[in-house]
Amino acid sequence: MGDIGNDGGRRWLFADQLGGHFLDAPGQPVLLVEATSVLRRRRFHRQKAHLVLSALRHRAAELGDQAIFAQVRTYREGLALAPGPLTVCRPTSHAAAAFVEGLPGVAVLPPRGFASTEEEFAAWAAGRGRRRLLMEDFYRDARRRLDVLMDGDEPAGGRWNFDRENRRPAPREAGLGLPPSWRPEEDEIDEGVRRDLDRWERAGEMTFAGRDAPRAHPATRDEAVAALRDFVRHRLPFFGPHQDAMLAADPVMAHSMLSPALNLGLLDPMECVRAAEAAHRDGRAPLASVEGYVRQLIGWRDYMWHLYWHFGPDYRRSNALGARTPLPRWFDDLDADAVEARCLSWALAQVRDQGFTHHIVRLMVLGNYALQRGFDPEALAGWFHRSFVDGYDWVMIPNVVGMSQHADGGRLATKPYAAGGAYIDRMSDFCGGCRYRPDRRTGDDACPFTAGYWAFVARNEELLLANPRTARAARGMRRLADIDEVRAREARRGDAPP
Ligand SMILES: Cc1cc2nc3c(=O)[nH]c(=O)nc-3n(C[C@H](O)[C@H](O)[C@H](O)COP(=O)(O)OP(=O)(O)OC[C@H]3O[C@@H](n4cnc5c(N)ncnc54)[C@H](O)[C@@H]3O)c2cc1C
Ligand code: SF4
Repeated sequence: MGDIGNDGGRRWLFADQLGGHFLDAPGQPVLLVEATSVLRRRRFHRQKAHLVLSALRHRAAELGDQAIFAQVRTYREGLALAPGPLTVCRPTSHAAAAFVEGLPGVAVLPPRGFASTEEEFAAWAAGRGRRRLLMEDFYRDARRRLDVLMDGDEPAGGRWNFDRENRRPAPREAGLGLPPSWRPEEDEIDEGVRRDLDRWERAGEMTFAGRDAPRAHPATRDEAVAALRDFVRHRLPFFGPHQDAMLAADPVMAHSMLSPALNLGLLDPMECVRAAEAAHRDGRAPLASVEGYVRQLIGWRDYMWHLYWHFGPDYRRSNALGARTPLPRWFDDLDADAVEARCLSWALAQVRDQGFTHHIVRLMVLGNYALQRGFDPEALAGWFHRSFVDGYDWVMIPNVVGMSQHADGGRLATKPYAAGGAYIDRMSDFCGGCRYRPDRRTGDDACPFTAGYWAFVARNEELLLANPRTARAARGMRRLADIDEVRAREARRGDAPP
């Protein structure tokens, strides 16, 4: 910890702390650092590098003389340009938090940008009789504490959970028919960012993954507010029912697309929650959809954030399933064209072209495939972090290592999110146009997800038998007469694209 109080000094804002709620007063002096060393260290998606630089430069332009804007190689060079005491809200990764804690003259304040504080999470986690840190329990505690969708002491509508209404299979239509989601217009700051990224890449100073495209997500507070309004008006009313579905011709469906703006700190989660709640109270959005959305924000998002700190820096190296397959080249390079499996090819193309997919694509297509093939969880978390425009360490580690890859042995999720082609067929319209058949696990048209699922169950039989939620699948696998053939075939596939 540094040696000054938190009542003065210039506020150092990291690139994911860009909203007004990271400052204490209008006019407060600011330090912003654009450190190119961050971009040199990893092969980020081109659109992610663009979005972060664009947001940082837009904030610097808005603040004008109020900010020192250091465009330098390293954070230390940036700090040297701002003599005098600094305050900083605790940054969002273990590495950055340790870095600022070790700097003299920098006072580290509690983090901001989440609905529940660390103390509130700790009080909940230490609650009497709490044996497991279940998301549903945390969410209900947050609903009560923050007074969200409550009628007195009871949940609005008499129920906490509308999952039954909100988990419908894919609709028959090709799309939900909603207006296109909000898009920004690029300006001269974006032009400058594009010029710099091109120049650095040409000079061999950094390389990028994915394709460049016009910026698709908010880079300023005004843009973020416009995107939030657009979501509440056009898509929130339809958010619930098909939340877990995937449609090839409609990658957005009714999702908010607001995670990039939230994770840059341009929106505060509670303002999104209150906007959604108001839409329900005014009769503009049904309760099931609003509850589904609010659950994502004060439930899942905050839960992941607090578990990231609660589990500590070594959690990222958890590997309970002994998964050690290096990421195949085609996967790492987002080479969608190398893949014939329609769902996976589509998902990789989304990442290549947008740096974004919605939740179920991440969990049940990309993550599911990696889980079945035993991709190294930490390497996979790094891939998600680099390839997604909303990817940051705090959110990737629990989502990938814990939720998606079950590498923590079940500390976060009660069972692995592994599923075969039947699940993808029910929840999407991919299988109809695929060269494989979701109901086949052997033969030339065997679905790689179905065969991969059974090979995964066979490989992890003991562990799955020991878990009441997965024991049935393991027993089912034992009854498959062709399981040896399935395993041999999947072993032959190796890391070739399916
Ligand atoms: C393997 C994997 C990787 C993921 N990586 C990221 C990531 O890098 N960054 C990220 O913000 N989210 C990540 N998520 C969570 C979730 O997929 C995205 O937040 C969501 O798809 C963003 O799209 P949206 O804004 O349209 O979300 P919506 O469907 O509109 O949901 C509303 C909001 O809820 C929040 N949210 C919902 N679920 C989660 C969750 N599990 N963790 C954190 N926030 C959540 C997001 O802020 C999101 O904007 C990941 C999930 C998985 C399974
Ligand atoms: S058949 Fe299998 S590989 Fe093809 S789209 Fe369906 S789940 Fe994916």
